[in-house]
Amino acid sequence: MENILPIEFLNRIKEEFGEPQAGRLSELLNGTSPTTVRVNPAKIQDPGAQLDLPIDTEVRMEGRSRYGVVLAQRPTFTLDPFFHAGAYYVQEGSSMAIENRLPLYQEVLRESADGKFRILDLCAAPGGKSTHLVSMFRDCPGAMVVSNEVIRSRATILAENMAKWGGANVVVTNNDPADFKPFGSFFDMVVVDAPCSGEGMFRKDPASRAEWSVEGVAQCAARQKRIVADIWPALRAGGVMIYSTCTYNSSENGENLSWIASELGGEVLYSEQCFPGEKYGEGFFFGVVRKNGAEQHAVIKDPLRGASVKPYKEGLEFVKDGYVCYRKGDLVKAYPAEAAVDMIYAESHLRAVSAGCAAATVMEGAKGRSIVPEGDIALCEALKRGVFPEVELSLEDALRYLRRETLAFPGEAKGYLLVTYRGIPLGFVKNIGNRSNNLWPQGWRIRNV
Ligand code: SAM
Repeated sequence: MENILPIEFLNRIKEEFGEPQAGRLSELLNGTSPTTVRVNPAKIQDPGAQLDLPIDTEVRMEGRSRYGVVLAQRPTFTLDPFFHAGAYYVQEGSSMAIENRLPLYQEVLRESADGKFRILDLCAAPGGKSTHLVSMFRDCPGAMVVSNEVIRSRATILAENMAKWGGANVVVTNNDPADFKPFGSFFDMVVVDAPCSGEGMFRKDPASRAEWSVEGVAQCAARQKRIVADIWPALRAGGVMIYSTCTYNSSENGENLSWIASELGGEVLYSEQCFPGEKYGEGFFFGVVRKNGAEQHAVIKDPLRGASVKPYKEGLEFVKDGYVCYRKGDLVKAYPAEAAVDMIYAESHLRAVSAGCAAATVMEGAKGRSIVPEGDIALCEALKRGVFPEVELSLEDALRYLRRETLAFPGEAKGYLLVTYRGIPLGFVKNIGNRSNNLWPQGWRIRNV
C-alpha cells in the first residue's frame, strides 16, 4: 500500500510541472535509487585508484559536484575502513548541486572586508551539506563553518561525521534558530536545508509516502518561513542564503524563496529544481538569495572575552603550522589561525558540541606533564604527518581496530602509534609492547558486523 504515490501529490505535480514531466516523475519514483558518494578532497585525490568502491566509471555527475561519484552497487559501507576515516560521505547526488553555484559564493567571499568567510549551516545533521561546505572552501584560510542542529541526538552524530571529515574550521552547535539573535549580522553565508515534506525521498524511502499529506506540506511551508525569519538577522547585508528542501511542491520551494526576497529583503540570484535521475540523484530544490544592503559584519569587540581559553603550544609538534592551539581545562584544541578567534567566539556564545579539532589531553601527574593525542587529530587536516610512528593495517586489522579490539605491535616503537589504512590515518594506539591500547573512540565503535 505504501508504495502507491498519494493521489493529491500526483495531482499537484501535474498542475505544477505539466502532464509529461509529472508522468516521467511518477515513473522514476517507482524505480530504484542509485547510490552516490562524495569524496573528501583532503584525503582522496583519485577515487578510482585509492578507494575500493564499485565506481560506475561511465557516469559523470556533470553540473553537480567535482567530488561526486556514482556507484554500480551499494556496498556495506560499515565494512569499509575508508568510510570511517572520512574518505567519502554517502550522499544522494542532487543534494550535491549546491556546488554548481560556487562562483556566486566566492563572489561574496571576495567582497568580505576582512577576507574571512563565516558560514552557518543551520539545519545540518547528519552533515551532508556541512562536509560539502568544508570541501568547497578548503582553499580559503579564513573560512569557518558553524554546523548547527537543533535535535541533540542528531547533533552528536553530526559532530562525529564532521570530526571524521577532518576540517579543523568547524564548530558544531546544538541551538534553536532563535538563539542566533545576539550574533547580529555575523555570517556571510547561511544555509537553510530546511525540514520539509520529503517528496524527494519517495523513491529512496517508499515508507515516506504514507507520511505525506496536503496539510503536512502547508505546515512545513509555514515552519520553513519561521526558521528563515529567525535566522535572517544573522546574515550580513550582501551575504547569501542557500535555501533548500528535498521536495517538489512550490509552496515549500519557489514561493518560500520569493517570500524570503520580498518580505525579508533580498534578491533571488538562482533557483533549481532537481528531479530524480536514472543514474543519480533524488528530488531536491535549492535557491540562492542575496540579502539587500551593503553593511559588513557586525564588529565584535574583544571576541575571546569570557571564553576562558588560553593559548597553548608545549608538546604539540604533531599540529601543522598554520593552526593555533588553545587550552580549556585539560583539553587542547587546534583551530586554523585565521579563523580561530571567530570560532572561539561562536563556540562560547552557543551550545557547542565540538569546536576546532580536539588535538590532545594534557595530563598532569606525579612524573610531570604528558600529552595524550586525541582521536580527532588523527583524522584531521591539522595533523602533521611523520611526528608519530605510523603502522599500516590490513583490512582485517583495520576492522578489528574499528571494533576497538586489542591489537599487538611487538616490533614497533613503544608509545603512541598512528594507525593507517592504505596510507589514510584512522587513529592512535598506545603500544605497550606485547599489546596496545586501542584509542578509537568508544562511541564510534562498529558493532554487529
Ligand atoms: N543538511 C542536512 C544534510 O545535508 O545532511 C540535512 C538536514 S534535514 C533536511 C533538516 C534538519 O533540520 C534535520 O536535521 C532536523 O532535525 C532539523 N530541524 C527540524 N526542525 C527544525 C527547526 N524547527 N529548526 C531548525 N532545524 C530543524
